[in-house]
Formats: sequence, structure tokens, C-alpha cells
Amino acid sequence: MKVLVTGGAGYIGSHVVRQLGEAGHDIVVFDNLSTGYRWAVTCGELVIGDLADEQAIADLFSQHRFEAVLHFAANIVVPESVENPLKYYRNNTRNTLNLLKAVEEHQVPYMVFSSTAAVYGMPEETVLTEDLPLAPINPYGASKMMSERMIMDLAAASSLNYVILRYFNVAGANPDGLLGQATPEATHLIKVACECVTGKRDGMSVFGTDYDTRDGTCIRDYIHVEDLAKAHVMALEYMAGGGESRVLNCGYGRGFTVREVIDVVKRQSGNDFPVQETGRRAGDPAALMADNSRIKKVLGWQPDYDDLDTIVGTALAWEKIWQDKQA
Ligand code: UDP
Repeated sequence: MKVLVTGGAGYIGSHVVRQLGEAGHDIVVFDNLSTGYRWAVTCGELVIGDLADEQAIADLFSQHRFEAVLHFAANIVVPESVENPLKYYRNNTRNTLNLLKAVEEHQVPYMVFSSTAAVYGMPEETVLTEDLPLAPINPYGASKMMSERMIMDLAAASSLNYVILRYFNVAGANPDGLLGQATPEATHLIKVACECVTGKRDGMSVFGTDYDTRDGTCIRDYIHVEDLAKAHVMALEYMAGGGESRVLNCGYGRGFTVREVIDVVKRQSGNDFPVQETGRRAGDPAALMADNSRIKKVLGWQPDYDDLDTIVGTALAWEKIWQDKQA
């Protein structure tokens, strides 16, 4: 299939591009390289451009006849979205609208969209089904919720089919060390802990130890990036086989506390880096896990890397490779 991958030079997008290439798809990556890298695009063609540039999108769609669009390009840092909300409504919501105009005009049949568990906000449930009401508590989650809604509304008014994937906590790296998270100024737990091991950081904080969980720290559902990437390839195959539009959670349905994650990073690396216990970070729900029965049923998806040691091990290996790459 001829596919457009926006944000294909970024962390998740680059893993998906590699798997799409292995599955034989014909790939065009569109990326502004704001947080992505040229080296991360391991197959297909890279077009450098920005989704804010409607002329660039028009040119792209006039040069290629895409059968599917996978839309990753977005900003993803929750605290930044609180400080600079319009950046998120511009880069995430408005730029999705720009892309959808071209999808509509060129009658692209299939779309896969990167959404997030942040659309659920602070639910009372800890294991989340896709049918929960959406109630994001920060502009990042709201910007993605609005994008979801635009895609659904366009699909209802056209022949577009979509799979919206709501990611839980994505971590890990390609097991062969080819790709991994290289995002500058990363804020995510496993990445931060790995940066302590390589010495990029002197230490880290645990945000909140008084949650109602088994050790007082927050529980999250960490999913390996290669399992998440596989879900995207399967979503395309599902739609090509006539599958109807769906919203699917991407997680393993179990969780680990912040302390458990840090312990695994320390044990695997043999590095006892300093960890400071500080107060809660605004907007952190105590526990979030995916009910993943729908993605298993609809796509036949089954994880290959559902193991915290594997997630941390690949992330640590990558962090060292990435440090050497930059040296
Ligand atoms: N966290 C932490 N220290 C850090 C980064 C994250 O204690 O340096 C905690 C954070 O408060 C949350 C969990 O780790 O409870 C996962 O946070 P992350 O930012 O990785 O993902 P989120 O769940 O916010 O999308």
C-alpha cells in the first residue's frame, strides 16, 4: 500500500516506518524534524515539511496517490501543553485539520491516528475501556480528543475509514538497537531513568509517594514500542480487509509503579543513581491501565514484549547507543 506517515522521523513513527517497510509498504514520511531525525527514517522517502504549511501538503498529495495516512506528527509534553496551550491546538488540532482537508480532497480511504490515554482524563476506573466518557484534564489530551472527533466526523460524511489508537505509556526500543527514543528534553519515566544511567542526568525525582497504590507511587501501563508499532501495521491490514472504523486502546492491561520501574532500571544497569522523592505532579491520576480486549479481538493483536525487563533492557541498550551516536 502507498502510505503517508506524518511524524515518521520521531520515536514511535520511526518504529512503525521500519515495520511497514518490512511488510512491503511503499512509504513517504512527512516530518519537520522538530523532534525527529533523518537517520530514524530507515525506509521509504523523507519529505521535510510542516503540516502548518497547507501548500506543502497540497504539493505532497498531488505528487503521490496515498491509500492510507498514518498521522503521528504532534507535540506530546503534558506540562508544556499547560503552559503553552495554543501551541498544542495549533500543532496538533489545527494541523490535523490541515491534513484532513487533503485526505478529504484526495479521497484517501484509510487513516490511522495516534491518540492517547490522556483523552480519558482522571477517570475513577483504573482499567479503562474505550467507551468511557472523554474528559481530558490538560490541553495535550484535549488537542488529541478534538483531532479524534474531526476524524470521526469526516469519516461519517465520507468514505474514509479510520483506526484511532489510544496509546498508554510507550517505552522501549528496537531490540536490534537500530532505533529508539531520541527525543530532546524527554520527560517520560523510563527515558528519564535511562538518562540517569548514562550520566546525561545527575538524578531524578519520584513525583508523589502518597497515592492509593501498592507502594504509594503512580501505576502506569508501559507498552513496548515494537508491540505498539505492530498494532499500526495490523490496523492497516484490518481496514484493507474491509474492517470498519474503530477506536482501540494500546496497552497490556497491567501496570507498574514508579518505584518498580526505577528498581528495574537500577537492577539491570547496576547503577544506583540518586532518586529524590518530591510532591505530586499536577494532573497525574493514581493508576491508568488499558482494557485491551477490544484490540485483541478486532485486530487479533497479541503482544511479543509484555515484560518490564524487556522494555527497560531495550531502552537502556538504546540509551547507550544514542549517547555514542551523539558523541
Ligand atoms: N514520573 C516520575 N518522575 C519522572 C517522570 C515521571 O515520578 O521523572 C512519574 C509520573 O509522575 C507518572 C509516571 O511516572 O506517575 C509516568 O509518567 P510519564 O511522564 O512517563 O507518563 P504519563 O503517564 O504522564 O503519560
